[in-house]
Amino acid sequence: MRLADHTTIGLGGPARDFVSAGTEPDLVAAVAAADASGEPVLILGGGSNLVVADAGFDGTVIQVLARGLSRGGDGVTVAAGEDWDAVVAWTIAEGLAGLECLSGIPGLAGATPIQNVGAYGQDVSQTITQVRAYDRTAAAIVTIPNDRCGFGYRTSRFRRSAGRFVVLSVTFRLAEQRASEPVRYAELATALGVAIGDRVASAEARSAVLELRRRKGMVIDPADPDTRSVGSFFVNPVLDAAALAAVEAAARARCGDGSRVPRFDAGDGLVKVPAAWLIERAGFAKGYSPGDGARISAKHTLALVNSGSATTAALMALAREIRDGVRDTFGVSLTPEPDLVGVAL
Ligand SMILES: Cc1cc2nc3c(=O)[nH]c(=O)nc-3n(C[C@H](O)[C@H](O)[C@H](O)COP(=O)(O)OP(=O)(O)OC[C@H]3O[C@@H](n4cnc5c(N)ncnc54)[C@H](O)[C@@H]3O)c2cc1C
Repeated sequence: MRLADHTTIGLGGPARDFVSAGTEPDLVAAVAAADASGEPVLILGGGSNLVVADAGFDGTVIQVLARGLSRGGDGVTVAAGEDWDAVVAWTIAEGLAGLECLSGIPGLAGATPIQNVGAYGQDVSQTITQVRAYDRTAAAIVTIPNDRCGFGYRTSRFRRSAGRFVVLSVTFRLAEQRASEPVRYAELATALGVAIGDRVASAEARSAVLELRRRKGMVIDPADPDTRSVGSFFVNPVLDAAALAAVEAAARARCGDGSRVPRFDAGDGLVKVPAAWLIERAGFAKGYSPGDGARISAKHTLALVNSGSATTAALMALAREIRDGVRDTFGVSLTPEPDLVGVAL
């Protein structure tokens, strides 16, 4: 089984074993059996945040297919194998708000807590109440409340513990209203023609987010070659005052516009600087390709794309070239957003 057929970027060699788990008990049993035999395990959702080596995975890949969606007193509980965007659409149809800005993100619900999926001012840590997971260390099913999930920007306890927890289901507390949560993201507010803090119909917010995302090649579309990616390849770096000052000085020296380094408040005196801005100013334009099938998306500098003939080795070489260029120009080390399997940046 080629993992290229199971990743949105269409890369990755064979899995030694491949198991599809259609129910929660099947999923737990497959993981427990692999653990008992000392077999390396890779949990596979929609493959939209995975970069797998050309050599593949020398172990058992367990594909999460367990479905189920229920609405109860605790909120909405979603099985790990549910398609994420279908879940978002369903909540809006049910008159529930809180996930509308997360429309169009590929992958499955079970992966959303892993990197605390977020976009356009929302992330799942804002609405998750608890995560049910199989704890591979304890060989037991555990329920982890939000405040013990260790959520941060594109990270969580699940991500940091490198495969210890297999997410079985996620429970969200959503507001019972047709209006969206207050719009927090300037680009979205502009697209909707409202001010930051205003609310619109959730369905309207969803349409605007999908439109913005399509323009950036951020909604999977087989007809759009720019969507053969893992979304953003790099995390937006969070900088302290000294690192920001260095970026401003470098930007002034290189582009004459140091005072205009874009930034978002990240709390504790830190700022988040768009990685796309740094990459462009370091000299990498949209569409750039070293000519071996890997390229920067023509629509979004942060997405690296497999043009069809790329290998994982070529993709990683391009990623390294960009990382080095940004480091040499601005002194900032970009880190990858997707999970790298069998390769390193
Ligand atoms: C076009 C595009 C746009 C994107 N836009 C965004 C965006 O706006 N915001 C954002 O945050 N992300 C975005 N992403 C990244 C990606 O969609 C998300 O990270 C998504 O949650 C990954 O889900 P998946 O099911 O595809 O996970 P996979 O890629 O299959 O897995 C990702 C990681 O999670 C682990 N994993 C998956 N399921 C489970 C589980 N049930 N239990 C334990 N571990 C698990 C895997 O082992 C792997 O380490 C985008 C990706 C693409 C291709």
